[in-house]
Amino acid sequence: MSRALEPATSASLVRRVVASLPAYDPGADPDEVAARSGAARVIKLSNNESPFGVSPAATEAVCRRLAAGVSRYPDPTGKRLAEAVGQSLAVPAERVVLGNGSENVLELLCQAVLDPGDLVITQVPGFSLHEIFPRMVGARVGKVPVTTEFGFDAAAWRAALAADPKLVFLANPCNPTGAMLGTGELERIVADTPESALLVLDEAYCEFARPDPDYPDGLAVLRGRKRPWMVLRTFSKAYGLAGIRVGYGIASDAALVQALNRVRTPYNVNQLAQDAAIAALGDRAHLADTVRRTGLEIARVTDRLRAAGFRVAPSSANFVFIDTGRRSDEVAHELYGVGIIVKAWREPGYENFIRASLSFPEDNDVFVRCLTEICARG
Ligand SMILES: *Cc1c(COP(=O)(O)O)cnc(C)c1O
Repeated sequence: MSRALEPATSASLVRRVVASLPAYDPGADPDEVAARSGAARVIKLSNNESPFGVSPAATEAVCRRLAAGVSRYPDPTGKRLAEAVGQSLAVPAERVVLGNGSENVLELLCQAVLDPGDLVITQVPGFSLHEIFPRMVGARVGKVPVTTEFGFDAAAWRAALAADPKLVFLANPCNPTGAMLGTGELERIVADTPESALLVLDEAYCEFARPDPDYPDGLAVLRGRKRPWMVLRTFSKAYGLAGIRVGYGIASDAALVQALNRVRTPYNVNQLAQDAAIAALGDRAHLADTVRRTGLEIARVTDRLRAAGFRVAPSSANFVFIDTGRRSDEVAHELYGVGIIVKAWREPGYENFIRASLSFPEDNDVFVRCLTEICARG
């Protein structure tokens, strides 16, 4: 009642939970780093992007659509893409929800499912949006630590899952560690997650982990279970389409997709993205090549870093999580000085870690050499 009498300031209008949210950290801006370092070429290893680009078929599809004209709104249901995704996974299209990146689906899930005060469980160190989106709608977030070897802590998960969560976000492989849950470990979490909770398996990096025979296909594990679940995947990482923003979720049932559609902006996935994703999905060879080359570099760079004395988490993804032995923001700052962008980790207990996605072998060699020099100096 008294609020109407007070003149508002922008700050006084902002919801309290919004004012308290941590900002998403996208890493340093490449243009700024280029200007500041004077480096001829910036090596950007901060966002887990693919250096190997996108399928030529996707480029063609985008060009064709642009030439045909984009004056019409996109298909609001993305039915051709939903059908292509559904067909590739043997799931009906009505159980596929599309997002402007899979982060958009994370956001829709929180809006559709969470009430203020609800509990969300996720892992630490973890993906910041698994915390920011729940907090945005007033939910509480409980974080399960990893083991000292960056592995899955079954006892800690079991204890956390016993606290009656409404939603569980589990990334496999995990960002930022790159660690992978094996089939037995995933099955244990599924068994320990109460049926009253929505279990969300974020598989943004699944393509890189699949060559490991113990990597579980989340869809195969969850398919047919009588409990609510969603598996999230994206075209941003292995498919190399991060700039065009498209990802998707596979839901346990069509009712969950319908709930997300209520909170989704109708044209959340633009037509160029829909077309590019359909074409990318059809190019198995490009994906296989990206996965193979990435795997080779992950193994090679991990070995080189360990040989130089760094502690490196075993990675099943396209990035490595490195204990630099120094404050990571200082290390990252010195790397900017030579034109290399990595992500400095800031979560408590991990302030000495950086996360670096890999690029071409030449770039990765420059990175290993510069990091080794900087940390030897430090
Ligand atoms: C990159 C990433 C995503 C989402 O990426 P989009 O570009 O929004 O599809 C989701 N989860 C994790 C863990 C990621 O690292």
